[in-house]
Amino acid sequence: MQYKRVKGMSDIFLPEVTNWQFVEDEARLFFKARLYEEIRTPVVEYTELFQRSIGEVTDIVSKEMYTFCDRGERSLTLRPEMTVSIVRAVIENNLLGIREPLKLFYSGPMFRAERPQAGRKRQFYQIGVEVIGNDSPFCDAEVIRDLVFFLERLGLERDACTVKLNNIGCPQCRPAFLKKLREFFTTQKESLCESCQVKFEKNVLRIFDCKNKECKEIAAGAPKVSDNVCEGCREHFTAVEKGLMLFQIPYTIDKNIVRGLDYYTSTVFEVTSKKLGAQDAIAAGGRYNNLLRELGGEDKSAIGFALGVERLLVCLEDSLKKNPSSVLERTVYVAYGDNAYIDQAKQILARLEALGYATYADLDKRSLKSQLKRANKFGLRWVLILNQDEVERGTYQLKDLRSLDVDQCLIFDKSFEANIRASMSTEE
Ligand SMILES: [Zn+2]
Ligand SMILES: [Zn+2]
Repeated sequence: MQYKRVKGMSDIFLPEVTNWQFVEDEARLFFKARLYEEIRTPVVEYTELFQRSIGEVTDIVSKEMYTFCDRGERSLTLRPEMTVSIVRAVIENNLLGIREPLKLFYSGPMFRAERPQAGRKRQFYQIGVEVIGNDSPFCDAEVIRDLVFFLERLGLERDACTVKLNNIGCPQCRPAFLKKLREFFTTQKESLCESCQVKFEKNVLRIFDCKNKECKEIAAGAPKVSDNVCEGCREHFTAVEKGLMLFQIPYTIDKNIVRGLDYYTSTVFEVTSKKLGAQDAIAAGGRYNNLLRELGGEDKSAIGFALGVERLLVCLEDSLKKNPSSVLERTVYVAYGDNAYIDQAKQILARLEALGYATYADLDKRSLKSQLKRANKFGLRWVLILNQDEVERGTYQLKDLRSLDVDQCLIFDKSFEANIRASMSTEE
């Protein structure tokens, strides 16, 4: 009997896991510097929370959630996305108040039982942010800026990405638009697929999410929400555009972006990359100005985005090779030229650790050649070598694997600490 992992899910290990760590580490630093606080919520929530907020007739809720009963016969669901859990947590823990606007950052796995295909996993990872308690269009521009600049920092060129923007209206203008939309689809109702006929009755906007070819063709001729928004929405949108121009972020307006979740209002956006096929976005987000109130919280506006880590890694493939991990800059591989020096190697190891360096040594009697090979394989930079000369005189040879010439750096025992600091701080 051989056990297999669950279909559509992955094990992530070396060497790919290094790229995951790079992206996650960079994200943590980047968003922390912009005063986003990290939030972690449980991976499961009561099913009702998602049904209520994402919407009963959305694809996510109607066919993609991992829902099960626990031993107490309560219906639980593995989170299919993060925004709803965060809003629940913000309300439940009273996180608003002096910290408003609340800027939150998250990173973790989400679960959707989609048809497995390239780049689509059933356990997939997202990095995202939410800004809660700010209504200003400049905030929209800042959130989009943070997304675009983060991608750029990871090595994705700005012209390799496209920011697509739309406005999907607010509670003032949406009822009139929905009426118009229903009128449009009434005449063609018979040609829609079965599930769209249900959507027509329950939530006409979701017809736009249908992947059926005929439904798509019909929907393409439907009135566009952004052509039917109120004056307030129009002004908000213009101001978002101004903000993006200030940050010199190119964008296109895409009237077809409606986002497949019910909670979105006003500004919605996607970032797509040439490196991904078809219409796949690396990241997407938008405003959800009514969600807090709908889930029993205060009437606060909010905006956020989620970035798909698997897709991001596909886009980053080439640039990742140029980013050796900086974590290993302070790791020293302690090597010995002769097995007789293994005890000395242990002592050096202890001294280095006491000085705050991370160490590694293969103390199982290897040849120097094999030790250097190992150090190289780990991607380490520094190797400290003990040879007869060194041991007798109390000096050591520090080799920089990144520079081609052997660095004959002699470190005298008395000033061991100062010497090693000076040697390892030299830039290549
Ligand atoms: Zn409006
Ligand atoms: Zn359909």
